[in-house]
Amino acid sequence: MSRTDAPERERTAGLFLGSDTTPAYRTAMEQAYRAVTDVYLERATPYTGRSPEQLAAQFEDHDVLPENGQGVTETIETVAQTVVANSVGTSDPACVAHLQCPPMIPALAAEVLISATNQSLDSWDQAPAATELETRLIEALAGVFGYGDDADGVFTSGGTQSNFMGLLLARNWVLDERFDHDAQADGLPPAADSLRILCSADAHFTARQAAAQLGLGERAIVSIPTDEHHRLSIDALDSTLAELAADDCEPFALIGTAGTTDFGSIDPLAKLGAHAREHDLWFHVDAAYGGALALSDRHREKLRGIEMADSIAVDFHKLFYQPLSCGAFLLGDGTHYQYIDRNAEYLNPESDDAAHLVSKSVQTSRRFDALKPYIAFRTLGRDGFEELIDYTLDLTTAVAQRIKDDPAFELKHEPTLNAVVFRYRPPTNAETAINDRIRDRLRAAGTAMIARTTVDGEPCLKFTLLNPRTTVETIEDVLTAIKRHGSALSTGERTTRGVEQ
Ligand SMILES: *Cc1c(COP(=O)(O)O)cnc(C)c1O
Repeated sequence: MSRTDAPERERTAGLFLGSDTTPAYRTAMEQAYRAVTDVYLERATPYTGRSPEQLAAQFEDHDVLPENGQGVTETIETVAQTVVANSVGTSDPACVAHLQCPPMIPALAAEVLISATNQSLDSWDQAPAATELETRLIEALAGVFGYGDDADGVFTSGGTQSNFMGLLLARNWVLDERFDHDAQADGLPPAADSLRILCSADAHFTARQAAAQLGLGERAIVSIPTDEHHRLSIDALDSTLAELAADDCEPFALIGTAGTTDFGSIDPLAKLGAHAREHDLWFHVDAAYGGALALSDRHREKLRGIEMADSIAVDFHKLFYQPLSCGAFLLGDGTHYQYIDRNAEYLNPESDDAAHLVSKSVQTSRRFDALKPYIAFRTLGRDGFEELIDYTLDLTTAVAQRIKDDPAFELKHEPTLNAVVFRYRPPTNAETAINDRIRDRLRAAGTAMIARTTVDGEPCLKFTLLNPRTTVETIEDVLTAIKRHGSALSTGERTTRGVEQ
């Protein structure tokens, strides 16, 4: 039987959208929706508690590519019971571990539109309205961060890619500017050995990763000590610049972090901006986490100086509550895009005056992720976002105070953003390493997802309080559970539900 015969066509053509296949689309979407409402949200705990081994065992007999299809209904049902049921409850108020936000409902509706229309932002003819909208959104965001009309930028997969782009442009800029060298055409000259990037010791690891990917090597990263608030120390910056000059090194980029991953601290951006100008350094601000403060009248001041940046990384899948992935790269002076100019003739014909965003991105095919913040901004307005941000920062202050007031805990810093780093103080004879085991026990019990970190070699616990549905009471319950597990562990007994790891 020929593959074009009617029965074959019926089976496969029904998989695709058309005005005649909407019943199939609706059925699949409703089933997926019910997996979210009836399986994922009904669980009402941040995790099932399954260990890596238990989860692996569950998928042991799973044929991910069976010879014969099972049909969409049976397949989604299986996914609901195995994958969705065992997914982390990112919307649960007691899921307070990482910078993994609860996605807001308007953005979930946006995801339906993004996937069904499948626009690709590389060229205008693959995404006409989407190209227009992303361009406008970038303009608006540039304004939010105090940039002028010359600014430009693009949506990215997140901070990793935005930081990479900032350093890529910075590298090509400095080679052109100081060495009259075209890195795009000719690669790295020997003089690139002396190039250095300055950032704080608490900067995100993706700076180091980008330096390696850019052919400068991790040795190009000069990490500057932080002050007592975990911010890049200006005194240390001054002495480092002097040492680099004495060693004939060429510092060319300075990274300021607005919201470090561990403590949420914000570097003194205005001072860094002034230093960058004085020393002719490309100033990149990693505001992946803290950029959202720009929408808050009460907290915007903490970002003062960000407008001096040559480039900015901001993530919408953190404090802007958009589902992964969604970030932006912003460039103060759009003409700097010349340093990564690409002229793929088939995508970017010179005869064509439509905008093709491919030349602004390191991606080619690219999702219309900008629709998510667009729908969210239109739905909530600036003041809606401000309310969310202000609430979670007030919550963080209140939680930090509770921890300070309780002798069973030691608060490790005064929070700037939503991160609270602290330690359970075990009774005298127990080792402080039980903080790690407390975290594991909470996860195994499924009652709370919290993070761990190390401060000066000492294991600590961490809350990241992004969820506007989390309350002080939610966290008081978690603190009570921490003390219960901590005390059980330090006296060597086993709690009823605890699983020793
Ligand atoms: C999250 C984060 C990154 C990495 O961003 P992704 O969106 O995960 O790629 C970089 N820098 C900081 C400060 C971050 O918080």
